[in-house]
Parts: sequence; C-alpha cells; structure tokens
Amino acid sequence: MKKIVIIGAFALGLVASAVAAAHWTAPGRKAQFVFGGALVDVGYGLQDGVESYDFAHEHELKPAQVWAEMLKHNRLSSGMRHAFPRTAHHPLVALVVCMDARIDTNELVGDTRRFYYVIRTAGSVMGEREHEMLELAVANGVKLVVLTTHSDCAAERAAATPELREKFPALSRAVDEREASVAAFLERPTIAAALAAERLRVERVAIETLTDQLETDGER
Ligand SMILES: [Zn+2]
Repeated sequence: MKKIVIIGAFALGLVASAVAAAHWTAPGRKAQFVFGGALVDVGYGLQDGVESYDFAHEHELKPAQVWAEMLKHNRLSSGMRHAFPRTAHHPLVALVVCMDARIDTNELVGDTRRFYYVIRTAGSVMGEREHEMLELAVANGVKLVVLTTHSDCAAERAAATPELREKFPALSRAVDEREASVAAFLERPTIAAALAAERLRVERVAIETLTDQLETDGER
C-alpha cells in the first residue's frame, strides 16, 4: 500500500511539474487551472472515503464530541495553513446563498476563497443587516452582487406549509418579504448610485440544488 502511495505521489508530481512548466502559454495556464480543480476534486474524493475523519461515521456523537472533532479538524487544517500561507483576498463578487448544506459555493462557482464574499442565510433572505454587509462589500471593491434562490428550499417549504409557519414564524415572514427586501436593497442610495454609475451589477439566479446549475433571470 505504502509503495502504491509513493508511486502515486511521484506520478502526480510528474504531471504537476509538466503542467506547471506549461504555465508560460495560454493553453498551458488553462491546463494548470483545470488540473488544479481536478486535484481539489481528487482530494475531496480521497477524504470522503476516510470515515474515521468524518462526522458521518458516528451519528450518535454527543455535542461535546462533535465540538472536539471540529477542533481536531481545525488544528489539522490551520497547521497546513501555517505551512502554506493563503494568497491575498480581493473579493469582486458577493454571493447571497441559502444555508442549505447541499449547496457548496466552491462546487457552485469554483474556488470562492479569494474573490468572493459569501453571505448565507436560511432561504437567502436579507434583512437590513445583510443590506449593510453588502454595502460594505461594495465599498470594499465588490463589482457584482449575486442574489440566489434554490430548488427544494426548506425555508420556502416552511413558509408555504401552515404547520411549519407556526413553528418558524419569523423565517416564514422573511421568505414572504424576500422580494420586497431585494427591492429595498436596490433602492438604497449607495447601491442605486453604484448601479447607475455602472460600478456595480446585481444579478439574480436560481440554483438547481442537485446539479449546481445556475439559471439566470433571463433564462426563466
Ligand atoms: Zn434553502
């Protein structure tokens, strides 16, 4: 097994070197970008198979054990961050996405670490706080705000189901008012001014939850 891992790592190193060497041409850079993305997928695939490092292996975990597991993951990951410092962040896009765990923004639009602010709320609803967060993001250089909804949304279902509305009244009201809140956001003076000056664009998309396909406003 150890031998296979060493041979695999060596082969991977060779391919990575070849791709890095191609960095000087446009097709080479594209190959490098795509190869990097493929490596991320391979990495997740490798990790997904190791249940001992996975919350899913033991659903009976107590909250304290979940917390301990989370800290363990952080120690591991921050240790790696120490060895490989992250690159600079210059967000140009702010994404508002539902908190639904099936949606992973890295799967949705690729690497969201450097160029994206991501706001996640149940049902992608915005209140004044989110409006201000987006205003702050625009003040920090964001040129595109993308407001999303998604298929099979639990928050929308709660708002549409009388028994669930009783249990989650505030969330249901926020879903009811989602459109009005978007309109209020667009009317905020700083946002309206940025839109008028074409310093900012606001797009609305629907996410197909199972496939990550984005459907733009014009396609609906
Ligand atoms: Zn949702």
